[in-house]
Amino acid sequence: MKILFATSEIHPLIKTGGLADVSAALPVALQALGQDVRVLIPGYSQVLDKLENKRKVATFSVFPGQPGVNLLSAKMPDSGVPVYVLDAPQYYCRVAGPYQYELGGDWPDNAMRFGMLSKVAALLGSADSPVAWQADVVHCNDWQSGLAPAYLQMTQSVHAKSVMTIHNIVFQGNFDRDWLGPLDLPQSCFDMHGVEFHGHLSFLKAGLHYADRIVTVSPTYAREIQSTELGHGMQGLLTSRNGDVSGILNGIDENEWNPATDPHLTSRYDSSDLAPKLAGKLALQKHLGLEANAEAPLLGVVSRLTYQKGLDLLLECLPKLLDGGAQLVVLGSGEVDLQRRYQQLASRYPGRVSVTVRFDEALSHQVMAYSDIFLMPSRFEPCGLNQMYGMRYGTPPVVRRTGGLADSVTDASQPDGTGFVFDEPSSAALYRAVSAAIDCYRGKKAFQRIQINGMRRDVGWSSSAQKYINLYQTIS
Ligand code: ADP
Repeated sequence: MKILFATSEIHPLIKTGGLADVSAALPVALQALGQDVRVLIPGYSQVLDKLENKRKVATFSVFPGQPGVNLLSAKMPDSGVPVYVLDAPQYYCRVAGPYQYELGGDWPDNAMRFGMLSKVAALLGSADSPVAWQADVVHCNDWQSGLAPAYLQMTQSVHAKSVMTIHNIVFQGNFDRDWLGPLDLPQSCFDMHGVEFHGHLSFLKAGLHYADRIVTVSPTYAREIQSTELGHGMQGLLTSRNGDVSGILNGIDENEWNPATDPHLTSRYDSSDLAPKLAGKLALQKHLGLEANAEAPLLGVVSRLTYQKGLDLLLECLPKLLDGGAQLVVLGSGEVDLQRRYQQLASRYPGRVSVTVRFDEALSHQVMAYSDIFLMPSRFEPCGLNQMYGMRYGTPPVVRRTGGLADSVTDASQPDGTGFVFDEPSSAALYRAVSAAIDCYRGKKAFQRIQINGMRRDVGWSSSAQKYINLYQTIS
């Protein structure tokens, strides 16, 4: 099958979160299973800078009255997966992030920037494709490509089927209805049974309404988003399309995240010998200004600092954990208030708490590898990748039983336990779970069993990629 994977971020070109990792790894797994998969990505400066051997394959106008854009063709740096780059510098070549400018506000023309991505995705899946390749299935990811299924449905020509994957239903791409005209959408689609969502043009709603199939990134989250509590207003639509909604658990890139070969690590290891992990821990403690203490349980966090991730719950119980002898390393950025509170904690506990506020790929691998226990107390979590990285690196995660965390981590009470799972979103429940993990860590033997169970668990992409292929086959 010819599959177009439309995405707004992809590792290692541009990344703000898990979507970038999935966009890099899933196409590789689909390709390994014999599919002709190509990625479509906006031509941000970072993408243009990092991609070599780009070739212009088409020039065309996306919306009436707009200047023409170029479509470039290239190959992803390591995997060689073919990638189309939407080259429109006036929209994508900007200093700062893919969605926001430096002070954290959304780019005011995001509707046009991602409407254009969606429209080009739809064109590549229609008989009007600007290149000599037409997708059978357009696979959209989150709101940024959410209008593609709408454009596909509206085209008069023969066109592809579409799949809409929800990586996080909180991000919906809701804009003023005045964008309908510039995005070449008829007023008639501004309807409850169309792109309208509470008086706004919603990219995600459009995707959920028009796509042939809806997927989210774990079976538990597929159920949760059909509830008022976690559906963020989309629950009614999702429930009405229940038969078209499924959950396919994300996998991880087992080459990129492999403690035996990881180039970011100072000492590498595998499940047959964990000793180098301890040497790495001591080096990391020194590097971050923590007391070099092999015995102190080192708790690790790598995360966007947001309400979703439950890191405020952690702040409440940290003093007790630190007073009990634990250390903490945090790598993350996000909400200013959370950043400040974590930085204050670091100054209150010198040598015991390290907080790094920035995006740092190398350090994220080191924290994952050399912490003893990884913390992910999310209030909700569509899938989550970090808990899987933690398991793979012998750093058992403490997670709340929600979404993909519930589907990927088995509690230590089970013979095949890989981490520590708690239920209630409260700091008391989190404290009990982290304390249990620390007790287990101090008991050594039982902890090692959990580490090894995690390291040997299959968290790769192949079975989930096959599930996507089965899904594409049901519609094409
Ligand atoms: P989400 O997509 O909600 O942010 P995931 O757990 O699915 O959460 O994926 C997060 C990804 O982003 C992981 O690869 C994680 O290592 C990475 N990440 C998050 N924050 C940082 C950071 N400050 N520095 C480096 N990597 C980070």
